[in-house]
Amino acid sequence: MNSTILANLRIPAELLPSDGRFGSGPSKIRTEQIDALVSASTHLLGTSHRQSPVKNLVGSVRDQLRELFGLPDNWQVLIGNGGASLFWDAATFGLINERSQHYVFGEFSSKFAQAVRLAPHLGEPLIVESPPGTVPAMKFAQVDTYCLTHNETSTGAVMNLLRPAQPEDALVVVDATSAAGSIAWSPNEVDVYYFSPQKGFASEGGTFIALCSPRAIERIESIAKSKRWCPASLDLSIALENSKANQTYNTPSISTFVLLNEQLKWMLNNGGMQWCVERTTASAKYLYDWAEQRKFASPFVSERQFRSPVVGTIDLVGIDANDVNSVLRANKIVDTDSYRKLGRNQLRISMFPAVEPTDVQKLTACIDFIVGAIS
Ligand SMILES: *Cc1c(COP(=O)(O)O)cnc(C)c1O
Repeated sequence: MNSTILANLRIPAELLPSDGRFGSGPSKIRTEQIDALVSASTHLLGTSHRQSPVKNLVGSVRDQLRELFGLPDNWQVLIGNGGASLFWDAATFGLINERSQHYVFGEFSSKFAQAVRLAPHLGEPLIVESPPGTVPAMKFAQVDTYCLTHNETSTGAVMNLLRPAQPEDALVVVDATSAAGSIAWSPNEVDVYYFSPQKGFASEGGTFIALCSPRAIERIESIAKSKRWCPASLDLSIALENSKANQTYNTPSISTFVLLNEQLKWMLNNGGMQWCVERTTASAKYLYDWAEQRKFASPFVSERQFRSPVVGTIDLVGIDANDVNSVLRANKIVDTDSYRKLGRNQLRISMFPAVEPTDVQKLTACIDFIVGAIS
């Protein structure tokens, strides 16, 4: 449709959400977090990460993550620079012994599998793949590491985390970048739960956080003692030593930790994981119920059990998703575009804890208005 018409279409003010950020990462940052950043401006920002004010901030983030996820005392919270993508490379050096199995059901899960495939020191990984919008079934394999993705952000499909019974000493390593803080999980089923903080934790990109079980720590230490070469910036044993001292190997973004610390405080003060899950579940119910009731929309993930409560993907029929997104953006509702490489006529809407469930409801009313106006 004519782009000028779309750009000039005004959504009535009473339909608009209180905040228009529905992106799947970077995602909505709450005003109170920005206030925290402003109050941190003189005593934390621009000060040394080797001194106690910043170390205490990192320590507070690590402690609050333990509390939020109910981690056993013998788990470690590893922190480093580079985000989840860097962690894939770090894992090829410092977590996988010889051979891993990967559950591939979208762009992110496939990228980790590819990183492992290209690593000359590892065996050919086993891939269990299923089409976008579905989730592969778990299969035992003779591997030392199982690689799972809690929430495939590119498709909006969620995986139930269960530890395969065999081999007994295999690690379960989970990419939780868009799931962490939004979807419940049990440390009994997992050895490494890693993520970047710009999605469910409403902070900034560029940092990785990896929650590690004692078995994972043992693996990191045993590979570090072996003769395998590892660049220092990817060395998880170096990340471990620094994290124990509430530091990072090289200089971190301090504002990332200020924003993350504030979001964790907010989540814990409101009731922790249970409250976060209730919020994302409420948002997802609005979105999927709405899509099921509309002739022009349907949830992309057909099996209900696999529909993500944090990244909702909605296929459109008879209406161009790009037109809908253009009008939304012209009305300051942003980042509802589908994952670019998926190539579907689709809206993708994040429902992280920071997003108000009533705003998801209002967004659906805005889409109804747009479809009424342009079809
Ligand atoms: C966003 C995302 C990543 C990549 O995170 P970066 O911080 O950009 O490295 C990896 N995995 C999943 C599931 C994601 O959603």
